[in-house]
Amino acid sequence: MIFTALLAASQLSPAPFNQAQLDAKEPTWQLARQRVDARLQDPWMERLVAGKVEIQFLKHGPTDHKRLALTFDDGPHGEVTYDLLKLLKEYDVHATFFVVGKMVINRKNMLRQMEAEGHEIANHSFSHPDLANLDLLDTLTEYKATQIAVYDILGHQPRFCRPPGGRMDEKTLRAASALGLTTVYWNSNPGDYKFDDPEKILERLRLNRQNGSIILLHSGLPQTVEALKTFIPECLEQGYEFVLLDGWRGKEQAANPVQRPAIHFKQRNHLKSSI
Ligand SMILES: [Zn+2]
Repeated sequence: MIFTALLAASQLSPAPFNQAQLDAKEPTWQLARQRVDARLQDPWMERLVAGKVEIQFLKHGPTDHKRLALTFDDGPHGEVTYDLLKLLKEYDVHATFFVVGKMVINRKNMLRQMEAEGHEIANHSFSHPDLANLDLLDTLTEYKATQIAVYDILGHQPRFCRPPGGRMDEKTLRAASALGLTTVYWNSNPGDYKFDDPEKILERLRLNRQNGSIILLHSGLPQTVEALKTFIPECLEQGYEFVLLDGWRGKEQAANPVQRPAIHFKQRNHLKSSI
């Protein structure tokens, strides 16, 4: 009953949301919104609002093997992403690409190529907003729209997501889990978006190299590709293996419990009032 009342109140006065960040005319976003709306009365949504959806979160892999996971946010972009794919192929290295749904729609072939070359496609929201600033419905819609966009091209949906800028609150994590997504953070951030100098990025990649690292990089930056031209062969020579996040979610992860993010969770009331 409380749930219904809250829902009614939110329908009367929708949460203030910067719609400008989204292209509300995007048919995929509209479709995602319809699907989320259609499920508002489901027990699924009630569990979500009540905070009963278990958070699936991954910050690093097991530390007992020399394994590293390369993850690339944003895009897909044009030439630079092709250069990156070429480099990964040269060394037979697979990575996880957290793609932006809106950009995927214009780069269908690139997405197909990524998958054909053994990479994992993951969800980085539809229009790259700050999810911590969105209400629950918009957060669900952002993730759902990218699920739909990727499904339309590849015939299956992503299993992992990462909120833009790593910005998240408990609502963001629960929304992802409700859609069957594991939220992926990182424990190695060489800051390729901050530094133009590949040497600087390489230095920071080396500094943070440790078993089970999830490495945060970006798919549209030439300096990232340059740094990786040295980093990848060097890691392989040292006996490291580059892996997808998959193996880290199953059996092995059970021995290394999922880490909760070191962020301050907002009160659960915030979750309720935001719907
Ligand atoms: Zn991003």
